[in-house]
Amino acid sequence: MVLQNLPKATTDIQDWTWDEFQVHYDELEARTLTADSIQGWLKDWSDLAMTLYETYNRLYAAVTKDTTDERMDVLFKKYVDEFFPAAQAADQALKMKLISSGLEPPGFEIPLRNMRAEADLFREDNLPLLTQEIKLGQEYDKIVGAQTVTWDGKEITVTQLQPVYQDPDRDVRERAWRLASSRQLQDRQAMNDLWGKLLETRQKIAANAGKPSYTEYRWQQLMRFDYTPDDCRQFHDAIEKVVVPAVSRILEERKQVLGIQSLRPWDLEVDISGKPPLRPFTNARELVGKAAQIFHKVDPQLGEYFNSMQREDLLDLENRKGKAPGAYCTDFPQAQRPFILMNAVGLHDDVMTILHETGHAFHVFESVNLPYFHQMLYGAEIAEVASMSMELLSTPYLPETKGGFYSQQDTARARREHLEGILRFWPYMSVVDAFQLWVYENPQAALDPANCDAKWGELWKRFMVGIDTSGLDDWMVTGWHRKLHIFEAPFYYVEYGIAQLGAIQIWRNSLQD
Ligand SMILES: [Zn+2]
Repeated sequence: MVLQNLPKATTDIQDWTWDEFQVHYDELEARTLTADSIQGWLKDWSDLAMTLYETYNRLYAAVTKDTTDERMDVLFKKYVDEFFPAAQAADQALKMKLISSGLEPPGFEIPLRNMRAEADLFREDNLPLLTQEIKLGQEYDKIVGAQTVTWDGKEITVTQLQPVYQDPDRDVRERAWRLASSRQLQDRQAMNDLWGKLLETRQKIAANAGKPSYTEYRWQQLMRFDYTPDDCRQFHDAIEKVVVPAVSRILEERKQVLGIQSLRPWDLEVDISGKPPLRPFTNARELVGKAAQIFHKVDPQLGEYFNSMQREDLLDLENRKGKAPGAYCTDFPQAQRPFILMNAVGLHDDVMTILHETGHAFHVFESVNLPYFHQMLYGAEIAEVASMSMELLSTPYLPETKGGFYSQQDTARARREHLEGILRFWPYMSVVDAFQLWVYENPQAALDPANCDAKWGELWKRFMVGIDTSGLDDWMVTGWHRKLHIFEAPFYYVEYGIAQLGAIQIWRNSLQD
């Protein structure tokens, strides 16, 4: 073992320079690879990569737990600026060494396949273009971030206006909605200009890598070896056939209950039970206690995993000043533990978030025993199956009588909302995915934003039935401007649709067995 003197605690990194890691990478690169030595070599590389990965994750956890911790902030930036690029280059060298050795260690087929795909796409010429693509993505963030409106005398972002769409007063909702959409449409030209630049950059990237289309380039980059664009089209067709009619029935009922002539875009988020929002808990201790009871009901082993996270301070759940927004689950593979951060304030969303993130955490517990770090990296298609199926497997235990948070009636309301949300996501996902398949198959046509508008409008009409958009054409056809993934993470969206289907299948199996 050459790696005995690697840093043990995250804060050790402050005394380390990259050179002290590079020594180990150099040693690994100098070793002769044979069928006999390969497993020891992989183990050492795995430990080294894992140390760096875990250090990053621990620093990330520290700076998100407390964004005002200046010491951690310095360490985090040191990692991102110095260690991250150096580690990427050093790992790349070892990947190339492994590939060119021609050895196929058992259990390493999938990591090797991924490394070969990555190496095949790599072109020095593309590095500046990939940087440019990221910068153009930041332009998108800037445009959206600057979209503010005046509401109740205060300047707020269009995103902050979203809770108003749940207001029981229809006029208030419509006023907010129209305010947001007219502000967004002011940036129509800016979005179209940005789009042209992005599309041209992506075309060049694909051409440099010797790929006939950006679709092929991106497919390989996203490591999609198990499904094709045609499979995605079939998925859209199935959604159109099965899900769209179900959503149409749900929206028809919504219209009836709300007692309105037609369902407008501002009528989709308001709760139709006419009851105030659910208030499931008052503090994080209560949230953890009830969540633990639910997980024990789902499976005693899962309940035990959750208790260990509680004991070892791996749950940071309560919203507080100085904490980063949002929610995530990350992993510390050397410690063989997950870590969850979220910002609970007592809403039903918080309950769903902890069920979701803990699904990811259970996945970590079950995968950290694999021999090599490189085997623990998996795609979103399966990662989200763990989290989304945990939502579905735990919601039957939401009633207080089963250890959860709600009355029978409120549980029914929460579960219905959850299942409707799943159904309503699939058609929208199909619009986003089918749109992008069209774009990168017809890049010349897609350079003209008018063609993009027409295509989006056509797909919207095909999948998003039951919503009356009359008089709102400009808003409807520019929907692609409002989907971040189309600008910043091309094609990365169908993953959620696939994972949701996997989760539904696990849930179905659980109902039968
Ligand atoms: Zn997730």
